[in-house]
Amino acid sequence: MFALKKCVAILDRLNMGKSMAITQKIKFFLISLSMAFSGVCAFAQEPLPRLLPDDLFRRNIGSEGQLDTQFPPHKIIDNIYYVGTESLGSFLITTDQGHILVNSDFERTVPTIKDSVEQLGFAFEDIEIIIGSHEHGDHMEGDALAKELSGAQVIAVAEQVPGLAHMRPGGKPHPIDQVIIDGEQISLGNEVLTAHLTPGHSNGCTSWELTVSEGGRDYQVVIICSVGVNPYYQLWNNPERPNIVALYESSYAKLRGLDVDIPLGSHPSMYKLAEKYPLIGQGKNPFIDPEGYFYEIDINEQAMRLRLEEQRLAAKQAQ
Ligand SMILES: [Zn+2]
Repeated sequence: MFALKKCVAILDRLNMGKSMAITQKIKFFLISLSMAFSGVCAFAQEPLPRLLPDDLFRRNIGSEGQLDTQFPPHKIIDNIYYVGTESLGSFLITTDQGHILVNSDFERTVPTIKDSVEQLGFAFEDIEIIIGSHEHGDHMEGDALAKELSGAQVIAVAEQVPGLAHMRPGGKPHPIDQVIIDGEQISLGNEVLTAHLTPGHSNGCTSWELTVSEGGRDYQVVIICSVGVNPYYQLWNNPERPNIVALYESSYAKLRGLDVDIPLGSHPSMYKLAEKYPLIGQGKNPFIDPEGYFYEIDINEQAMRLRLEEQRLAAKQAQ
């Protein structure tokens, strides 16, 4: 499936500028062919490495210290900037009416994010809205402090609220100024972000979509929440979250249905920031990577299914 998508993505690039109808016909032809003969499009085939949830979790968190080490703040494209650490993804989306911060991370990360915002020439106090990927401490624990320092409004997605209520660094209650639902949009200045609920990793896991432009072309950006399975997650027969697998599956389907040019993520390894960063200014914007987007979904789905099977077999053997 990955090879096919990659193949279609390559065709998308080859056909850029040609009529949509021709592209669609070629895609349809290719999909039909691939279904009939496996190995079609072999030129694009690359086996998916066999990574387990533990491997992807380690990849996301990085080595010791990376959670807290500032990554050089930089412009990603248009009005989106990276203000996170080596392994925690935080993004500043600027507008002429103030800015949006996506992910305040741990409370201890907030001073680093503030410094990154300022290094880029923006004022932390100009942040008007704070949103987050999901209700885990490494992504949204800093909301209270970030709000205190900026005066911004914290907007949460309904399914994030129960988890956020437990997030009380230093005893501070988690601030929530507005609650939105799946599919709802938030806007500031001329920027509009769409909230796509992509649960599984958590119930309120939300991927944020927006449109940017560069060189006279529009690009769709998605800040992927996470479709990762943490090492301790129970997928098989989980009494607390009996629908956990179905939630992951619905999120893979939803994300695959989006037309994404630029994948970003709540952990920068989800879009290979360390590899792309040195390529900034070397020609094509390295963050334009539709294939990388599908790769991230595919590699996580494979890991989820491997873990589910392990747990199913273990439960069977224990009987
Ligand atoms: Zn998480």
